[in-house]
Amino acid sequence: MNLQTLAVHAGITSDATSAAVAPSIELSTTFEHAADGTRGSAGLEYIREDNPNQRQLEAALCALEGGATALAFASGMAASVTLLDSLDGPGEIVLPLDVYHGVRRYCREVLPKRGFVLREADFADARAVAALIGPATQLVWCETPSNPQMFVTDIAAIAEATHRYGSLLVADNTFATPLLQNPLALGADVVMHSTTKYLAGHSDALGGALVFARDDTFAQGVRARRTLSGAIAAPFNTWLTLRGIRSLAPRMEFHCRNAGALAVFLEKHPAIARVNYPGLESHVGHAIAARQMRGFGGMLSVRCSGGRDAALRIASRLRIFTNATSLGGVESLVEHRQSVESAGSTTPDDLLRVSVGIEHIDDLIADWQQALK
Ligand SMILES: *Cc1c(COP(=O)(O)O)cnc(C)c1O
Repeated sequence: MNLQTLAVHAGITSDATSAAVAPSIELSTTFEHAADGTRGSAGLEYIREDNPNQRQLEAALCALEGGATALAFASGMAASVTLLDSLDGPGEIVLPLDVYHGVRRYCREVLPKRGFVLREADFADARAVAALIGPATQLVWCETPSNPQMFVTDIAAIAEATHRYGSLLVADNTFATPLLQNPLALGADVVMHSTTKYLAGHSDALGGALVFARDDTFAQGVRARRTLSGAIAAPFNTWLTLRGIRSLAPRMEFHCRNAGALAVFLEKHPAIARVNYPGLESHVGHAIAARQMRGFGGMLSVRCSGGRDAALRIASRLRIFTNATSLGGVESLVEHRQSVESAGSTTPDDLLRVSVGIEHIDDLIADWQQALK
């Protein structure tokens, strides 16, 4: 089946008693078992381990990413941290310089205490990354396109370098979504999602996920770690996320079209020094993005000609684009990223990150036009 069809149908199982077409929310925290602990036919016991809504979402994510198994989490950070905590030190972890700031902070603040050495590199340069990968490497983390500078990583090239030493490649696929990019097919071992963004799609459900290429001892170890840490999502959130996924294909089509048109408009405007959007031919990663993505996504960032002050002025003048963090919802958002990233931010102070929503493109361009005047 095509991804568009899968997005509508994957994971959807109807209730046998009511024949309801839409999934229901199962709030029960516990499931009846026999006196000796033998589980019922569904194999469920306690909500922190597994539950019906979680299963449905995981089945959908597995199908969309082409994985062997998937795990849903309470947030993207819960997914990332549970994965990182499942590694046994000592060893080395290779990380992009431009990576989601929460992941960078966790890696810098916590992992060295557990015996890990961090190696940070510019992932737009696959050769520089490959030079850092060696026998001590336990994990390589990539994020493409990256948040917020929109760098593009050649997933297949990094996967090859990673596997030369038997290490694992994790790819944060939040910006692209499985509709536009499938890292497992390009050689990654694990895909990470903040489902809070495009997958849920309506800025109302926090969540995260990991999709594994193989259901091996590592994947099972992460699953066991999730049960111990309790990093799972509540049934209402997994239900909302699956609901969002069903309209992912048409939403992504609008996000891509609007972002592409806005990028072209902004690139010509004298108040904008640079537009970071992989769909533009001026983007250094354009050729790689065109090869590994089916669309260039709804995210872009701009560098403002007048520096930090100009960036803040433009952001405060925008009306349809709300100044808020997060991304991937139907509504357009803008954010002066450096102002909200924690210490150690690598984001330039003249940069605005833009999450282009699914409003009418004429209104979105008119909003920038008046803000840039
Ligand atoms: C938001 C985000 C995260 C973190 O996910 P949460 O759901 O907020 O915990 C990780 N990576 C990227 C690229 C993100 O945009």
